[in-house]
Amino acid sequence: MINVTRTFLPPIEEYQHHVQRAWDNQWLTNRGELVLELEENLKKYLAVTNIIVTNNGTIPLQIAVKLLANGGEIITTPFSYVATTAAIVWENCIPVFVDIHPDYLTIDETKIEAAITTKTTAILATHVFGNPCNVMVIEAIAKKHHLKVIYDGAHCFGVQYNGKSIFEYGDVSTCSFHATKLFHTGEGGAMFTNDKDLQQQLFYSHNFGHNGPLAFYGLGINGKMSELQAAMGLAILPYMETILTERKKVVAYYTTHLNFSKIKTFKLRDTTQWNYSYFPIIFETEEQLLRVEKVLNVNKIFPRRYFYPSLNTIEYTCGKVMPIAENISSCVLCLPLYAGLLELNLELIVSIINKYLK
Ligand SMILES: *Cc1c(COP(=O)(O)O)cnc(C)c1O
Repeated sequence: MINVTRTFLPPIEEYQHHVQRAWDNQWLTNRGELVLELEENLKKYLAVTNIIVTNNGTIPLQIAVKLLANGGEIITTPFSYVATTAAIVWENCIPVFVDIHPDYLTIDETKIEAAITTKTTAILATHVFGNPCNVMVIEAIAKKHHLKVIYDGAHCFGVQYNGKSIFEYGDVSTCSFHATKLFHTGEGGAMFTNDKDLQQQLFYSHNFGHNGPLAFYGLGINGKMSELQAAMGLAILPYMETILTERKKVVAYYTTHLNFSKIKTFKLRDTTQWNYSYFPIIFETEEQLLRVEKVLNVNKIFPRRYFYPSLNTIEYTCGKVMPIAENISSCVLCLPLYAGLLELNLELIVSIINKYLK
């Protein structure tokens, strides 16, 4: 069976080596030695100013929305994983959708200003499939209208844009270290900011609001990563170069062998150093997608319809019609992409797609 992704697992002895340290310390959470070491290693690897690792990739979105959006309207994208919109609604804010760019698949920054009202407090946009939003224009709009910017960078581990980490953009950026993601800790995530005060607020918010054992800065929740999660991260981080090289090969195979006369993929924004996180193909119609998906499934190949459905169509969002996002959501299929995917399997995938599109 070939799935859209296969979780990378390090040699078990290397994982056990780090788990043993937790045993030796008799310390399983509350920012122990392994979490601190993972944060240091990630800071270097990603070349970011600050990082706070968390127990998943959704809690940093919720914390950022809570701290920055103040119960207001948040301009957001309909083309993302449901966690992006759910975090907004969960924190009693109102998602206001702005359609996406048909080539980049990120929020269409030229349509943002028309959606701003007196209640707008923030923009929450997703760097889709590791492809950066137009962060420069979004920053200018936010400045002009005094809005906060949060980026869902769940897909962006290791992505550089304009010569620096994509996580350095926006007031807060987040990442997910879920088992299906490029780098993972089983469940896990991180949040990033360059603002010192905000860094402190994010920090105490993810630790019940604590200021020392007996005092509190303010309201908080439990967003802490455990030592067991950090052990996985520490064991995987040394393999990132290998993982990226292998994924790059898979992407190169798809790019050279797929017949792009009836399908397309997304356009990578200029000056992006991409991470080969996803390989979406966009069909002309949903019927074509369903036909190809069916044949792939018969051959035990299971791509995923990322992202479907368009988030403005989910019942609790009451969104307006978003023609581009709805169209792309119904026609996009992410192909299997992971380290260790064999050329023989790639040949089969590509031949099925090329054949059934004729
Ligand atoms: C995976 C993902 C999330 C959620 O991350 P979790 O770690 O599963 O909570 C949020 N946004 C996007 C775009 C994702 O792909």
